[in-house]
Amino acid sequence: MRIIRYQNDGDEPKYGWILEDKVGEIQGNIFGEYRRREARTPIAELKLLPPCTPSKIICVGRNYVEHAKELGNEIPKTPLLFFKPPSAVIANGEQIFLPPQSAQVEHEAELVVVIGQRAKNVIAETAKEYIFGYTIGNDITARDLQKTDGQWTRAKGFDTFCPFGPWIDTDFDASDAVVTCRVNGQMRQMASTRDMLFSVSTLIAYISSIMTLEPGDLIFTGTPAGVGTLKIGDVVDVEIEGLGKLSNPVKA
Ligand code: ZN
Repeated sequence: MRIIRYQNDGDEPKYGWILEDKVGEIQGNIFGEYRRREARTPIAELKLLPPCTPSKIICVGRNYVEHAKELGNEIPKTPLLFFKPPSAVIANGEQIFLPPQSAQVEHEAELVVVIGQRAKNVIAETAKEYIFGYTIGNDITARDLQKTDGQWTRAKGFDTFCPFGPWIDTDFDASDAVVTCRVNGQMRQMASTRDMLFSVSTLIAYISSIMTLEPGDLIFTGTPAGVGTLKIGDVVDVEIEGLGKLSNPVKA
C-alpha cells in the first residue's frame, strides 16, 4: 500500500492511501489501528505533504564504497551517522532554497526507511519487523561547509535540505532497487541498493543500539557516487525503480 499525507485548503493534514490515481482518507493511526475510506479523490487535486512527521531523521554517511572514494574518504568500519533536523523537511514538488552561506550545495539521492514501531536494541535478524515502509529522499548537503565545519549539522541542516516522499510504500522490496538522480533530466547518480556497505537490517540494529527509534522516524541509507552541485533554476529528480520519483526545483 502507498500512503500519503495531504491537505485541502485550511483543513487539518490527513493521511490517505492510493489506489491507481485516486486517494482515500485513512482514519486513525497509520502505525496502529486505522480504517481506510473509499479511494475516490484524484491525487492531482490534493496538496501533498511530506508523507509522515519524523521525530528524528538519522542519516548514514559513506554507505556506498564508490561515493566514499569520490570524495577521497576512507570506507567506514562501522556505520557513520549524523542527523538532519525535522525543520529541514519539504514535500515532493516544494522548493529547495540555496543558502547564502554556501557556494556548493549538492544533491544526494537516497533510499529512506520509515520506522513502524518503537525499536530499541533490535537485532539484525528481526530488524525488518520494525520497518513500516520505504520512501525516497534527497540528502541536500552544503559540501563546502561540511568540509570546513568538521561537524555536519550546519552543512546538512538548512531549511528545505530534506525533501522526501512523495509517498511511503509499505510493500516495497528494497533489497536490489536502482537509485538514480537526474538534474534537469541529466543522469548524475545511479546504483543499486545491493551495493550498500551496511544493509538496512544492519543499520536498524546499529542505530537502535544507540537510540530508541519511534514510528515515523526516518533512516536515510546513504548515497551512491555521482554527487554534484545544484544551481538556481535546476530541477532535481530522485527516482527509485518500483518506488517512485521525488522531484524538487532549486531556488535562491
Ligand atoms: Zn547522504
